[in-house]
Amino acid sequence: MGKERILVTSALPYANGPLHIGHAIGAYIPADVYTRYHRLKGNDVIFICGTDEHGTPIAVTAEQEGIPPKRVADNYHKLIKKTFSDIGVSFDNFSRTTRELHYKNSQEFFLRILEKGFVYKKTVERPYCPVCKRFLPDRYVRGTCPYCGSKDERGDQCERCGKQLEPHELLDSYCAICGSSPEQKKTEHWFFRLSEFSERLNEWISEQKHWPDNARNFSLGWISEGLEDRAITRDMEWGVPVPLRNAEGKVLYVWFDAPIGYISSTQEWNAKGWRDYWQNPDCKIVHFIGKDNIPFHTIIWPAMLMAHGDYTLPWQISSNEYLNLEGRKMSTSRGWVLWLHDILGEFSPDLVRYYLLSINPANHDSDFSLKEFQHRVNSELIGTLGNFINRVLVFIKQNRGGIVPEPVEFDDLDSRILETIRGAPGRVGREIKEFRFQPALNALLATAAEGNEYFQHKEPWKRENGTTLYLCANLTRTLAILMHPFLPFSARRVWEMLGLNGRVEEQEWVSAGESPIEGGHKIGSVEPLYEKIEDKKIDAFGKKFLKPGSESKMDILKFEEFKGMDLRVGRIKRVEDIEGADRLYLLRVDLGSLGERQLVAGIKDTYKKKELTGKEIVVVANLEPAIIRGYKSEGMLLAADLDGKPVFLVPEREVKEGAKIR
Ligand SMILES: [Zn+2]
Ligand SMILES: [Zn+2]
Repeated sequence: MGKERILVTSALPYANGPLHIGHAIGAYIPADVYTRYHRLKGNDVIFICGTDEHGTPIAVTAEQEGIPPKRVADNYHKLIKKTFSDIGVSFDNFSRTTRELHYKNSQEFFLRILEKGFVYKKTVERPYCPVCKRFLPDRYVRGTCPYCGSKDERGDQCERCGKQLEPHELLDSYCAICGSSPEQKKTEHWFFRLSEFSERLNEWISEQKHWPDNARNFSLGWISEGLEDRAITRDMEWGVPVPLRNAEGKVLYVWFDAPIGYISSTQEWNAKGWRDYWQNPDCKIVHFIGKDNIPFHTIIWPAMLMAHGDYTLPWQISSNEYLNLEGRKMSTSRGWVLWLHDILGEFSPDLVRYYLLSINPANHDSDFSLKEFQHRVNSELIGTLGNFINRVLVFIKQNRGGIVPEPVEFDDLDSRILETIRGAPGRVGREIKEFRFQPALNALLATAAEGNEYFQHKEPWKRENGTTLYLCANLTRTLAILMHPFLPFSARRVWEMLGLNGRVEEQEWVSAGESPIEGGHKIGSVEPLYEKIEDKKIDAFGKKFLKPGSESKMDILKFEEFKGMDLRVGRIKRVEDIEGADRLYLLRVDLGSLGERQLVAGIKDTYKKKELTGKEIVVVANLEPAIIRGYKSEGMLLAADLDGKPVFLVPEREVKEGAKIR
């Protein structure tokens, strides 16, 4: 069989918060296992992702915190990218939807389907805040869910019952920024003719017999209820501007531009080669997504692609059910959540990957429990897989001086374990290929268990038998290759301990069925692969990180910002008013060696111009410039909060402008 060409994408994580364990097993770790497997198979596979950085959640967070939306996205992009790298999710490219290339792509996409007649303009009524003097799209409105009665829900989706909402549906609605009740006001928006694609979608989805039943039936059900045209623009500043005249203040809806991000990220990865994946009917495009994203990837996104006409439609959709935490539904707003970076701070990534894959919520919701995490890791990962590998390597080290012995003769048990080796890549690979990640992991563990049983029966500590150790060394090599998709960090270590050439990720999957380690081979230095999780450690971890509401997303954002801050002493040279802004000053600040900077600061309520000129202050000097009221602001003042008013933090004695604060 020839090489397959596969494009794997994972749902673009939204840059308005860190990743939690549910995200990790929802769309990322399974996709990583799948991609790593196909790389070892020698297939032409690429793995594409990036952060989704538009939309009202980021805009609202930014407004509530008084910082530009780009800065919210910058921080979370950085944190999310690092977390993925820490847990070993091996994207070929991880982009962002705020890159210029993506703006261009999204606008071109919009114009193309507009020209083809699949987009039209319509006047509609939308909530408008009379106090903020602007429209209130999506999360700018809050109110009571009309379906379940939950209060303080957001305008796009009810967190309690999960229903997708339109802002005008909310009862007792109010503006998320100022609390006023909105009016209905007329505005123009562009709509995508989704209704025109009902028949084509129905036909296409019916043909996708290889899709999981839930995704297929769910999507067909959606279509049979009747598809409605969808507004693909919003009245707001943050987003990709609608590329038309008379469209000021309008941006593309985040759900429209985000999936185009898959294409943009692929282009960023390879400016020429991207077409081989997106415009090639032989390429299999696989979208790994969370359950709530199914209709967007089986209906709306394919309809967009059909409307455009140049792109290949998705080949497969892999989605998971939900992961609960200690028996309760996770909720970021209520603080009942386990952040991925917290657990990775205490436990090595393969332990986390192992446990998450072992409870992979493929067909039904599953539960993450710290005690179960400890138990599964200790008894299965360490007790079975780690145990076999350690036993074999330590035995060869201690009793054979680190040299793999020559095989002597093969009895029935030996022949059987040789069969185990030969069949293992097929047994594990079949499951991964079919997106059955938990059974695949079980097949890997079963192979190690057979090794343990064999070692136990042969009792090499009683009888010196070269064949047993020779076969066990080769089975260890088999395991190292088969471990790579699931446990990439420990697979690499096993490969090194075996003293083999090259790297495990360069091996061919089928070669895991061979026994190329010969008698006389010298293994490398040996140390335990894993460390058992002790009661004390798991209890302390639970106490620290499983407390509802203990650490809000904003605290994490601020901490992330603070870690990388360059704080400098500056002297205010000039203070000016900004027309129409009651609370803002435009400052000119001397930062010594860094030169002069212009800053916009909301301190007019508290300080008079006279008080400020010549004053020494502390400035955060390494922030990306923000545009506030049309003025560039190249930094931020540091101030303490005194009854809601800012009070400057200043050096106790005069220091030179530009002095670094540590
Ligand atoms: Zn509800
Ligand atoms: Zn308002």
